[in-house]
Amino acid sequence: MTTINDFNFENKKALIRVDLNVPLDENFKVTDTTRIEAAKPTIIKILEDGGSCVLMSHLGRPKGVDKKFTLKHIIDNVSEIIGLQVKFVTDCVGEDAEKAVAELEAGEILVLENLRFYDQEKSGDVAFAEQLSKLGDIYVNDAFGTAHRAHASTTVVAQFFTDKKCFGLLLAKEIESLNAVLNNSQKPVTAIIGGAKVSSKIDVIKNIIDKVDNIIIGGGMAFTFVKVKGGKIGDSIVENDKLDIAQDILNLAKSKNTRIHLPIDVIAADAFSEDANTQVCDIYNIPDGWQGLDAGPKTNVGLSFVIAESKTILWNGPIGVFEMEKFAKGTKELGRAIVDATADGAFSLVGGGDSVAAVKQFGFADKVSYVSTGGGAMLEMLEGKTLPGIEAILS
Ligand code: AMP
Repeated sequence: MTTINDFNFENKKALIRVDLNVPLDENFKVTDTTRIEAAKPTIIKILEDGGSCVLMSHLGRPKGVDKKFTLKHIIDNVSEIIGLQVKFVTDCVGEDAEKAVAELEAGEILVLENLRFYDQEKSGDVAFAEQLSKLGDIYVNDAFGTAHRAHASTTVVAQFFTDKKCFGLLLAKEIESLNAVLNNSQKPVTAIIGGAKVSSKIDVIKNIIDKVDNIIIGGGMAFTFVKVKGGKIGDSIVENDKLDIAQDILNLAKSKNTRIHLPIDVIAADAFSEDANTQVCDIYNIPDGWQGLDAGPKTNVGLSFVIAESKTILWNGPIGVFEMEKFAKGTKELGRAIVDATADGAFSLVGGGDSVAAVKQFGFADKVSYVSTGGGAMLEMLEGKTLPGIEAILS
């Protein structure tokens, strides 16, 4: 795997695809700088070599040029986080961009305007990618969040840098971490798959089933499995058209000797609301009018034992409606068990938008081994797919 550490960037201009798609408030102020901070190590290494950085990214979902989505909004944050004033150019291709790059000196950083002001970015237009390729000597992809998209800046542009392309430190770490879980893992390996629906995670479960020893299925998706096993799930969320698939997964797990752990009990509520009345129920016997919204106390204890024995842990998806305080306990206790196992030497990888939000909310983000930055990209890797942005560097 070629990374920026295999190049010396002295007097070179690095064209770096970063993920600066940060959330903004109504006054266009950045509300979470995680993604900018994640891009920093790659930028610093290139500057320290004596090179310069041309940063390209998308921001939001503009339809054509729309100044609401200008990357100018984040220039001050990038400058502050990197520790030097970065430059900005109001286009991402063409004369202005080329001029700004030509004037860029060693030790400087230039941010290009939003790539998605051009439809050609998402359509993966080759001519557009060729224009982008004029803006650097070496192409670096450091954007895991968009690595599953065959866009001009994430994939197509790489073909113009035959042996002058590589992974940035962030993307390399993402690939290594997932590899550490799926291919070079210390056993026992435990995957926790939670979230609302089984339909979005079927391919993940099928792909990892013979790579892991335990699969903990939690959250809303557990009820489809409990129902197919004959449980009475009351008004809990269920996908009746996925019962066959749930049964297939249970059969497959049995044939591969992979243990599937379903919740034993739940916190059931009489409404999907913070003000609901609640009771602890056996998950196979939830009364009508009640829905399971969090893992129950017996489940939490059981899961903590499974996790304590694991040497490699993958967590994707909350095991309860953690956004509501009343139903956050299961997800929090699960997070704590993962933190404890990590302190005891296990490797833990947390990924997927909601579980990342959960570990941040509970203050566990720096107590697990790795927090992935890409939701969709991570799911596709877990599904066993080859991501076009990664393939483009490797080929
Ligand atoms: P996903 O995007 O599929 O990972 O689902 C994440 C969402 O699942 C979160 O917003 C949780 O609130 C929700 N969720 C977790 N457990 C349950 C449950 N038992 N019932 C309904 N929604 C749930």
